[in-house]
Amino acid sequence: MKTQKNSARSRKASSATKKPARRAPPRPAIAEPGTGTTPAYGAQSAKTPLAPFNIQRRAVGPHDVQIEILYCGVCHSDLHMARNEWGATIYPVVPGHEIVGRVTAVGKQVSKFRTGDLAGVGVMVDSCRECANCRRGLQQYCTVGTVLTYSSRDKRTGEITQGGYSKSIVTTEGFVFSVSDKLPLASVAPLLCAGITTYSPLRHWKVGKGTKLGVVGLGGLGHMALKFASSFGAEVTMLSTSPEKERDARRLGAQKFALTTDAAQMERLANYFDVILDTVSAKHDYNKYLDLISLDGSMVLVGIPPVPGEFQVFTLMGQRRSLASSGIGGVPETQEMLDYCAEHDISSDIELIDIDYVNQAYTRMLKSDVHYRFVIDMKSLA
Ligand code: NAP
Ligand code: ZN
Ligand code: ZN
Repeated sequence: MKTQKNSARSRKASSATKKPARRAPPRPAIAEPGTGTTPAYGAQSAKTPLAPFNIQRRAVGPHDVQIEILYCGVCHSDLHMARNEWGATIYPVVPGHEIVGRVTAVGKQVSKFRTGDLAGVGVMVDSCRECANCRRGLQQYCTVGTVLTYSSRDKRTGEITQGGYSKSIVTTEGFVFSVSDKLPLASVAPLLCAGITTYSPLRHWKVGKGTKLGVVGLGGLGHMALKFASSFGAEVTMLSTSPEKERDARRLGAQKFALTTDAAQMERLANYFDVILDTVSAKHDYNKYLDLISLDGSMVLVGIPPVPGEFQVFTLMGQRRSLASSGIGGVPETQEMLDYCAEHDISSDIELIDIDYVNQAYTRMLKSDVHYRFVIDMKSLA
């Protein structure tokens, strides 16, 4: 077992134990329209730890929704971006794209939300809305360019977007999701990225009854993949480097567990899976997992290591295997996923933290010491 002292500020909370959030009466807006100074937490450079500073949110436009952020999940992408591991970060950056909170103001043209509603924001805040992919509801594959929730230039407003490690956000209604009050709100936050990023490929590759699925990496994405795939009726095997996670993997929905550092266990799974979903955040050998896929099966990469991977064509050719990838999910599918979770009582297993624990959370994520998503309680941000 990896030992790690949790700070007093890191509080364990399981999706099963927390009470559902109750609808509270509307509160005053965090930042008045037009004066949008908002406390936030972010990085000034790739080498500096995250620290507090203020950001400006835009005035609430006719199609905008202003949300008081109550909880924000900590995705490994936040770490990649804060440290510029993908080479695309615009500083200063406020990470965070697993945002849930309460609507505090709406623009005149907004019809879907009212002040006081629960709402969520995920990885995107806009797209061209007109290309073929946007028209199909696949805004994440917008051919003009998706506007990401942080470190992205919003062509409509000209602003550099800033994410959810902050007190409030103002964003366009079309990219805001309705959140049910049936589930514990803090455990809903990770659905906005970890949830949809696993739900979407499992649906696309038709994972269900009769599918043998392997999930590589038991972190934020991996644990949601186990929950969804078992709910869809698939036979699920967890492929992990952490033997101490076996018991949790089974509780989360895996029927089988294989330790990927044990060659004998890997050997026994050769040509076994119809689909493998790879959620690994660091460099690893794809060929080792491709070997486990049966004829015409697919390996779907959702983890995005900062360095390019290598694979042998022979490994693909040997069983006519496909190597594929998938990015988050479009707006309609994200709402579908949130509704599915509310209906089937699915949410994330979280460790609730205060904002000043986030640098330690990053350190622990790098050691695979995550059980299974850190979520920031935004009350802790002054
Ligand atoms: P995470 O919570 O840190 O989990 C990653 C897991 O990968 C670890 O817990 C560990 O699981 C495993 N792992 C880590 N290093 C490994 C290594 N060297 N070899 C084998 N396994 C290793 O991360 P996450 O938030 O789930 O994100 C995972 C990746 O998905 C990140 O790269 C992130 O940027 C990416 N992502 C992609 C999308 C998309 O749209 N495609 C969306 C969100 C995130 P075990 O202990 O079980 O081995
Ligand atoms: Zn993410
Ligand atoms: Zn588009």
